[in-house]
Amino acid sequence: MRRKLAAGNWKMNGTGAALSELEKLAQTPATSQTDILICPPATLISRAADTLAGTAIALGGQDCHALESGAHTGDISAQMLADAGASMVILGHSERREDHGERDEDVRAKARAAIDGGLTAVICVGESLAEREAANTLDIIGGQLAGSIPDTATGENLVIAYEPIWAIGTGKVPTIAQIGEVHDFIRARLERRFGEGVGRSTRILYGGSVKPDNAAEIFSVPNVDGALVGGASLKAADFSAIIAALDAA
Ligand code: PEP
Repeated sequence: MRRKLAAGNWKMNGTGAALSELEKLAQTPATSQTDILICPPATLISRAADTLAGTAIALGGQDCHALESGAHTGDISAQMLADAGASMVILGHSERREDHGERDEDVRAKARAAIDGGLTAVICVGESLAEREAANTLDIIGGQLAGSIPDTATGENLVIAYEPIWAIGTGKVPTIAQIGEVHDFIRARLERRFGEGVGRSTRILYGGSVKPDNAAEIFSVPNVDGALVGGASLKAADFSAIIAALDAA
């Protein structure tokens, strides 16, 4: 009942030359059950929309402001992202939480604004290595979910990405059992707060060093509905291989 989702987070990488990777990605055969999302830097969204016109590949932002417009130098609103061609936006990525001090309540306000602006909010949660080693992972994730998800969330306008901070960009990946435990926990928390309908229809992605050679194993885990991919989404060949693994799972 849930469509799979392969989401690429380009972070602060890519100028116009990177659009050639999207041209290659557009050659990926369309799949019946897997949605594909690329979140390039905001400067590229509009040109990426032109490049991907006529394909099923969706575009997203990497952050948005909690307000629609105003005196907020350097910020970008959900309406601006949508106007440029985005249909989704990543919110509360650990790099935003760390680099910009974003707290759960900030993420929640941004997610509410994204949903009001017609975007799907991809809300990131994840524990640090110290938190995992102290056996606090589920407490941390539970708190982030409670604090970051707005009450207006539905299975259509919300995606959760579980991204252990220690796995992002490091090549370290949790065990299958660890991923499964957290994804089952997230599903249960969504069902408890929003009811079975929303809880079961919300997609839960895993993110953190997903590569072509580990993707199939990760996608075999129950309640893993796809991936949020950083480094391996920058090259169309790698991202296509991950999409193929997801489609086959
Ligand atoms: C990310 O930044 O969301 C991410 C998962 O990065 P990487 O795939 O490079 O670990």
